[in-house]
Amino acid sequence: MPTITPILAFSDNYIWCIELANQQCMIVDPGQATPVLRVLSERALELTAILITHHHFDHVGGVADILRYKKVPVYGPEGNINTLTHPVSDKSLLSFPTQGIQFKVFAIPGHTLDHVAYYGCGAVFCGDTLFTAGCGKIFEGTPKQMYQSLTTLAELPDDTLIYCGHEYTENNLKFATTVEPNNPDICSRIQDTQQKRQSNQPTVPATLSLEKKTNPFLRCQQATVIQAACHYAERELNNPVDVLLTLREWKNNFI
Ligand SMILES: [Zn+2]
Repeated sequence: MPTITPILAFSDNYIWCIELANQQCMIVDPGQATPVLRVLSERALELTAILITHHHFDHVGGVADILRYKKVPVYGPEGNINTLTHPVSDKSLLSFPTQGIQFKVFAIPGHTLDHVAYYGCGAVFCGDTLFTAGCGKIFEGTPKQMYQSLTTLAELPDDTLIYCGHEYTENNLKFATTVEPNNPDICSRIQDTQQKRQSNQPTVPATLSLEKKTNPFLRCQQATVIQAACHYAERELNNPVDVLLTLREWKNNFI
């Protein structure tokens, strides 16, 4: 099993470093080159591939400078990423037999139309679609697409580790407890998250099972969440897509 560690970028981005056997590694969503090149040098790692989840600058901004240092394959969705060498799409299988690792690609549009996730070795790299205790803003897709994408991710095994692109857990849990003030799993996750942040530890990854218990955006069919969303919208909401859209609008206005 590879070791997966975060490389901090900008104010709250996580670039993921997947360390394989023989000092080799892959990098997910390098928004900046400098912190990546520093880690490669400090740990004497040989970069073998770059994986991209979507075209936003804070996920691809470092690719060109990393390629100047070493030419490696760049996997990602086709269309908006000019440094891409290996386009992927829904159900693509990325096999790296010499490293004993394989990723299955899922199309998960909603935050952007080109968004993909990489699932392998018990982990999913899901960029800005599913966040720990939250979900991404719907910039390019529709609420229905976002709902379907979150459902796709929720169907992975419960012990899957969620590696998202930002450290947003603390703020997301403030919103989650506003939606479900009596959810004990959210209360204990808030305590755990505060302890980690006070000692400057990442709160990512988290298991999918914890997300299903505490992330309102994965709980659009729970009575408590539906009730809270209806109360916010001041009308009946008859399907989970409308519940998701209402939660997203509510979160957009949440401080
Ligand atoms: Zn993004």
